[in-house]
Amino acid sequence: MIAHVRRAASALIIGVSLIALGVSGVDARPSDPMRDAGPRASDPAPFPGDPTGLSAPVPQPDRVDPASLYFPQVSCSPRALPGVDKLGARLIKTYGVGSIGAGRSCSTGTSEHKEGRALDWTVNVDNAAQRRAAGDFLGWLTANSGVKARRLGVMYVIYNSRIWSAYRLSEGWRSYTGYSAHTDHIHISLSWAGARGNTSFWTGKVGAVDYGRCSTFTGQPATLRRSPRPVPCAPTTAAVKRSSYATSYYGATGTAVERAQRRLEIGATGSFGGATWSAVKDYQKSHDLPRTGALDGPTWSSLVPSSLSYDAVEGFTARKAARYGFNHYADRVLTKHEAGKAVLVLQTALDAPRSKRSGYYGAATIAAVKRFRSDNALSPGGTTDRSVWKTLALP
Ligand SMILES: [Zn+2]
Repeated sequence: MIAHVRRAASALIIGVSLIALGVSGVDARPSDPMRDAGPRASDPAPFPGDPTGLSAPVPQPDRVDPASLYFPQVSCSPRALPGVDKLGARLIKTYGVGSIGAGRSCSTGTSEHKEGRALDWTVNVDNAAQRRAAGDFLGWLTANSGVKARRLGVMYVIYNSRIWSAYRLSEGWRSYTGYSAHTDHIHISLSWAGARGNTSFWTGKVGAVDYGRCSTFTGQPATLRRSPRPVPCAPTTAAVKRSSYATSYYGATGTAVERAQRRLEIGATGSFGGATWSAVKDYQKSHDLPRTGALDGPTWSSLVPSSLSYDAVEGFTARKAARYGFNHYADRVLTKHEAGKAVLVLQTALDAPRSKRSGYYGAATIAAVKRFRSDNALSPGGTTDRSVWKTLALP
């Protein structure tokens, strides 16, 4: 028994180190559940009549969490979220077979693996013991209209050419014709609530829908928000700056990555790994850029100004920006997390360093406004109202 546990533990460590290194999991091929519209199918493995399943760490409430909606990947983060790690650990601890892989490079295709919301459990359908474990888990998970899947926040699972989706509950198991047949592992994608470990299986309380991460600027990756979002994303803001450089993500390689690394003053390896991911996030934070962890349009515009292909306030001097702002934006209050042309006009009027004129109202802009208010004997604070614009626009 001890040897058994030890084997499971080392398998888990392998899985975790894969995540830490950002190496692709066991299946590096993208899986797109939406591509599949297959008909009802038989179970992916024999389900026992009374599956054991996973035991919950806390007493379970009578009510059940809402079935997960479909939340496609919107961001890039090589780190598995806590609910993913916990589910992986529990699968290994319960069944003692297979290993877990979760993180994945973001450079191609769409997959929840790329934002820490999916895991692969290596249980091969051709191995009797592993197939039994898979059948027990999947039978338990999907029984009674997926009560346990709802408690865990499972969005969909794929195994042995079958897919089961919480957002298509009434259809049960369907045939899956995606790129990989998934005969050597179960793929599990979680909702945001499930991935964060905020569902009743873990907490004993029914979780609210968590809409997850949202983009700030149109066409850009989502910000790596940590806290749950109880409402859907607000509409995105039109880009205020564009770069001729393509967005580069964790896992990418090449000369553009190398150029960014030089500007970030980190080792110029040309390979976008964990160190670059951290440096990009730090740079974004200090330059009022949405914290996406990607070398996206706004970030390239700031890092490599010569790559700028569009600027919403092109030709604006600080003076012109101040007058333009007073004429157009004095009737509203600009505050933290706002984004758009008004913010870019403000940053220009404040004569912020060019690399910090992002169009996003973050910590650097708040600090600059606080300073401006203090220097000009205005009421204290970090928000921009008529008094700020008026003082800026004074001849
Ligand atoms: Zn997978």
